[in-house]
Amino acid sequence: MNTSDTITAPASGTGGAITVIRISGPRAAGIADAVWKGKRPLAGAEPRKMFLGKVGADPTLAVCMKAPASYTGDDVVELQCHGGAVAADNVLRRLLAAGCRMAEPGEFTFRAFINGKLDLAQAEAVSDIVSSGSAAAFDLAQRQLAGALSARLNGLCDRVDALRSECEARLDFPDEELDFSPDVRLAAACAAVADDAKALLATREIGRQLREGVEAVIAGRPNAGKSSLLNRLLGYDRAIVSALPGTTRDTVEARTVLADIPVILTDTAGLRESADPVEKLGVERSRRSIAASQVTFGVIDATSGSGAEALDELRRSGAKNLIAVWNKADLVPGFVPPPADLPQVTVSAATGEGMESLIEAFARIIHAGRGTGPLPDAAVNARMAGLLEQAIAALKDAENRLAAGEHELAAADLAEASRRFGETVGRTTSPDLLDAVFHKFCIGK
Ligand code: GDP
Repeated sequence: MNTSDTITAPASGTGGAITVIRISGPRAAGIADAVWKGKRPLAGAEPRKMFLGKVGADPTLAVCMKAPASYTGDDVVELQCHGGAVAADNVLRRLLAAGCRMAEPGEFTFRAFINGKLDLAQAEAVSDIVSSGSAAAFDLAQRQLAGALSARLNGLCDRVDALRSECEARLDFPDEELDFSPDVRLAAACAAVADDAKALLATREIGRQLREGVEAVIAGRPNAGKSSLLNRLLGYDRAIVSALPGTTRDTVEARTVLADIPVILTDTAGLRESADPVEKLGVERSRRSIAASQVTFGVIDATSGSGAEALDELRRSGAKNLIAVWNKADLVPGFVPPPADLPQVTVSAATGEGMESLIEAFARIIHAGRGTGPLPDAAVNARMAGLLEQAIAALKDAENRLAAGEHELAAADLAEASRRFGETVGRTTSPDLLDAVFHKFCIGK
């Protein structure tokens, strides 16, 4: 991507009352002046102050930011026009005719990276903030944008660079006796960096859960109350509740937040043998959803005598992290489920009774995946995790080389580890790496 021309794109969705159109680059104010008419021109106007003017006949507010004190680090002008596609189109067409280029997806943030306003971990945090599905996910992304994750990744990189310098210093004095003797101290230092990298790598799972959400499925026999439970967990009626068994024939998906974790909840067709071809397809789909989910809420009708069989069916369905949810407790006062070696809760989807215990059981499963304790300050994403794994492997090689006194080979392994750590934050980059980070962004970011 060219970084010296002037680019533009809507920085807000066009569906609201106002659309923000961002212009970034050396000619931002000049090009804005070609389309915007106010009392005074924007070139030379006081930065970060709103001015009222017009683009064509449409009243439009303008604000200027002077390089490097802007989001992108370029000169930036933001125009606020009326919402809706037509108003935005009117402004954009004029800007393009006046010499702007349409920004690629993620190009504003890419410029911020190139101009040293953000590193790659922070750039990814911008994307995470916009897509965050829970308050905890939002907090994590904010901390990442503020540099919490970058600080830890840079720390690992700096330590490896220091070890590499020490290692290379040995190579400068090949005649000295020290060469080719096992270097226990440096080997141990490599292992210590690797241990810290492993600790950071262990945040991958919670990072994935917060960024992408946990897939949870509601399964069980027809009429057990699966759709009622979905609606109760969502707080609104998403699925059809009916006294007729077999009404939910397809899977119904909805997003919610349970215990601070974004959750993609799927309500399934009831598991039962059926001659009806449509219902059969639904049951088949339920089985696939169960196989793909990380947590299964297995709903059992507490009023039916066949609870044990229903539970067995759920166990046989291949459900992972099964929670037995005994429903309709309001109809069986004092109900206690038969003992079983899995988490069990008693609820009423109708009255809401027992919902806290269900959410607690869910949280316990999710927490077990990463050990107990509060959410971490920083959590790596899949891209960083892949790089950390490579760096850890290179550190292990370096450790072995040092234990054998092979400083030259160890220095090469440490250079590899440094490259991988560096790629997490963008200290070292390649076109492929930048492409992988920024192609995930959408237009205007
Ligand atoms: P699904 O087929 O498993 O999705 O079950 P539904 O959610 O459609 O519920 C089946 C029937 O059970 C409906 O008539 C619901 O009103 C009723 N039902 C669901 N949960 C409860 C509950 O907790 N208490 C009572 N009393 N009725 C419930």
